[in-house]
Amino acid sequence: MRKPIIAGNWKMHKTLSEAVAFVNEVKNRIPSVDKVESVVCSPAPFLSQLVDVAKDSNLKIGAQNMHFEKQGAYTGETSPSMLKDLGVTYVIIGHSERREMFAETDETVNRKTKAAFAEGLIPIVCCGETLDQRENSLTNSFVGSQIENALDGLTEEQVKQLVIAYEPIWAIGTGKSSTAEDANDTCGHIRSVIAKKFSQEVSEQVRIQYGGSVKPSNINEYMNMEHIDGALVGGASLEVNSYLQLLEGV
Ligand code: PGA
Repeated sequence: MRKPIIAGNWKMHKTLSEAVAFVNEVKNRIPSVDKVESVVCSPAPFLSQLVDVAKDSNLKIGAQNMHFEKQGAYTGETSPSMLKDLGVTYVIIGHSERREMFAETDETVNRKTKAAFAEGLIPIVCCGETLDQRENSLTNSFVGSQIENALDGLTEEQVKQLVIAYEPIWAIGTGKSSTAEDANDTCGHIRSVIAKKFSQEVSEQVRIQYGGSVKPSNINEYMNMEHIDGALVGGASLEVNSYLQLLEGV
């Protein structure tokens, strides 16, 4: 049985005091870990304090990005060991906004994914097609190759642990969510790519989230789908009640 996982992706939102207030409010109200794994991925400057506020609760704190090198002359970057040292559990890798605006490629996504495992962090590896690719029936081939490249060189044990977030780019922050059936088809395709590259067993264990305009009113449709194990949520994860409703909707 794959445990559902809901991860909030706050992107570049909130001040430290707002972030701390959020975690204080939700940390004792989230459902049991037996039901759902609850994660909030905050801006890097808040991570240390949020890990501290969330300790002894079931809420896990994740980062939104990291560099693949351990250390060095990379002005403005955060290393995997820095995140680990802070007590961060998850790290989002290769979000489409990072691919589009910060020149991340399948190659850097692969290096970051390996670096996350080397440090004991669990990567949430993002993939997803553009509207143009969808309209030209290229979704499966494009997303499939993103996943093949992202997971290249990983062990079966690592792939079993990681989380994949399938996020069609045209559905992110637009209010235009994918239908649950379409999202399920693509997540099923991702599973078949993993079965071929690794094994059937691995493909059955890896958790795949859908992301793109998920909200309390539609989370349930996605969660009812065979291949969807949770959601990566931007806008609807920013408010306490909305975040809690997403967790309840699992
Ligand atoms: P959204 O963002 O829920 O605001 O569409 C999702 C994401 O970018 O992870």
